[in-house]
Amino acid sequence: MAKSKEGKYYEDRPCCLCIRMGIANDTPAIFHHTRDGRLGKRGVEGIPLCWEHHVGKLGIHTLGKKAWEKRFKLTEAELLAMCQSE
Ligand SMILES: [Zn+2]
Ligand SMILES: [Zn+2]
Repeated sequence: MAKSKEGKYYEDRPCCLCIRMGIANDTPAIFHHTRDGRLGKRGVEGIPLCWEHHVGKLGIHTLGKKAWEKRFKLTEAELLAMCQSE
C-alpha cells in the first residue's frame, strides 16, 4: 500500500478549491492532510489542493488555516466534505 505523504502529488484529482471556485486548473494537486493525518473512513483524510492554494501566495500553509478559511469563505472541513461527496 502506497503511503500518501504530505506533499505527494495527487494526480487523479484536480484542486478541490479551484473546482469550488469554478477555476479550470490542470496543475496536479497536492494532497493536503487535514486533522493532522487522522484516519478517516477512507484512509487518511485530506483534500487535493493545487500548489497555489496549498503552499503558494494563497496557500493554506502560507496564510494560515484561519486566514485562508476567511479568504475563501469556507472551512477546511467544508471543503473536505465537498471533496468526499463527489
Ligand atoms: Zn486550487
Ligand atoms: Zn498541506
